[in-house]
Amino acid sequence: MRLIRVALLLVIFLGAACGRSDQPAPLTVTYVANTGFLIECGGKKILIDALFGGFEADWYHVPPGGIVDLMTAARPPFDNVDIIAVTHAHTDHFNARMVTDHLVNNRRGILVCPAQAAQALETDPRYHDVKDRIRIMAARRDSTAELTVAGVEIKALGTPHEHSADSHRDVEHLEYLFTVGGRVIYHTGDGEMNDVRRYQAYGFGEKPIDLAFVCWWDAGDRLTFRQQLIHDIIRPERVILMHMLPNRPPIGNPERQQTVAKEVILPQLCLQSWGP
Ligand SMILES: [Zn+2]
Repeated sequence: MRLIRVALLLVIFLGAACGRSDQPAPLTVTYVANTGFLIECGGKKILIDALFGGFEADWYHVPPGGIVDLMTAARPPFDNVDIIAVTHAHTDHFNARMVTDHLVNNRRGILVCPAQAAQALETDPRYHDVKDRIRIMAARRDSTAELTVAGVEIKALGTPHEHSADSHRDVEHLEYLFTVGGRVIYHTGDGEMNDVRRYQAYGFGEKPIDLAFVCWWDAGDRLTFRQQLIHDIIRPERVILMHMLPNRPPIGNPERQQTVAKEVILPQLCLQSWGP
């Protein structure tokens, strides 16, 4: 009898343990500026589009100097970052010198980026010191590239940059999907979210998206289209809006609307963070 009871307890314990292991790891997100965030999940850290600054702008948040210092020195909370991801080489997403500073001070960091961003690092005298830790994600337009770094599955989506028909035609631009700690996290960068078939071809809808970082800077018809695309095709649990105009109310109160996801978050302060 006692043996049966012990066996039963063991089954319950193992069942609970298995149940726990199936649960996704806690996810913490810290806002830096514009489309820049620190993502922490399953013991991994991803810093995306955050290493820029040193100027002022009216159109988006720029990291304050003290925060840039923490990032470039790889000091907490920007220490032990596993992946430094860059969507494209525009100055409101990427600064080659600051990325090199961070890589020099964080020996475990791997840079994933489009070729244009990698090329921008080559003129730095410290390039030889970091070049082995650069991974160019060669996803051509409307295609994908995949790589696993530090146990994080990275899928780069070769989406054209917003306004790719004119001013940003030659920009190499990537969106990202990260699978880490049992969660799927999506970051649009400045992607031109104008084509439902592109996102269907990427495979959206096959796996649930835990969190989507969505560029929201556009207005009017294109914003309505984007909301529909997110709601119908991407279907994330949570949305964090990016590329917002500072000191101005967002158009259409997107943080309050529930048309795209159950929860919509509007970052406002540098180092503001959201836990599990
Ligand atoms: Zn851009």
